[in-house]
Amino acid sequence: MIVCFGSINLDLIFPLPQLPVAGQTVLGPHMHIEPGGKGANQAVAAARDGAQVVFAGAVGRDALAEDALVLLRRTGVDVSRVIQADTATGCAAICVDQAGRNLIAVASGANLAARQAQIDDALLGPGTTVLLQRETDPAEIEALIRRARARGARIVLNLAPPGPLAPDALKALDVLVVNEHEAAWLAGHLGVSDGAGGLHAALGVDVVVTLGEAGLEAATRTGRLHLPAHGVTAVDTTGAGDCFTGVLTAALDRGMALQPALRRANVAAALCCTRKGTQGSMPTAAETAAALP
Ligand code: ATP
Repeated sequence: MIVCFGSINLDLIFPLPQLPVAGQTVLGPHMHIEPGGKGANQAVAAARDGAQVVFAGAVGRDALAEDALVLLRRTGVDVSRVIQADTATGCAAICVDQAGRNLIAVASGANLAARQAQIDDALLGPGTTVLLQRETDPAEIEALIRRARARGARIVLNLAPPGPLAPDALKALDVLVVNEHEAAWLAGHLGVSDGAGGLHAALGVDVVVTLGEAGLEAATRTGRLHLPAHGVTAVDTTGAGDCFTGVLTAALDRGMALQPALRRANVAAALCCTRKGTQGSMPTAAETAAALP
């Protein structure tokens, strides 16, 4: 079972002819709304890959909340540990230009009210994989890592967006997943050499650095791995990182070894890039299995 502690947002997506600069208003044809938040995206990806997922997070007591939860519910994620806080549901305004470049503002809102105490001890044990990002209160994330480590759960953290976490919490992880920018930020923050190897040497945990269309590199306790991306015609890479982390976590939770789990996540994330959207573009277990080389 996966216990995901993370963010739930509603994404307001504005396709625009060009991105606005400070002080500028740019008119676009329409806006569309999608559920988002890295926590929810990764939980949906894991559930579509066949995992049983319990989600702990927070939405507001407002009109956005149900729309933000809709795909979690539809995918069968257990949202009984999602609380309603007295603040607004997390919301992201995403401007996208015709070249696919984006400009994003996020109001964290209720996400900062999520508490790790929403997860009872019975959910944390050797049979559990805890899945974390960094869009909720860092002190709560650190406390949950320490609790999960003491109780013998597996812990996967996607340090996105990048920011500090206590060194003992980082060293208590099983797997750290970062993209190139997050890897460079963390290496600079820790004062160690960049890349999966430098972070693995510094933290002693399995480190996966995703490299977009160049695939991934991993430095783990069982060796190094570089995987090229699975060949697809990408139409929208939004959510590829969340798909990757969600499917990797689902595979590890099923008992798969890290290297085959990375191969599976690499294929699933490529499939996600062949469809527009985020949560709705996460592949099913059968789709990923059919595309595995
Ligand atoms: P995002 O923020 O867009 O969700 P990210 O920056 O967190 O993504 P990336 O490193 O861009 O993550 O991509 C994650 C994984 O998705 C890659 O390691 C790779 O497996 C897959 N991927 C990304 N882009 C492509 C692509 N163009 N073709 C095939 N696979 C891709």
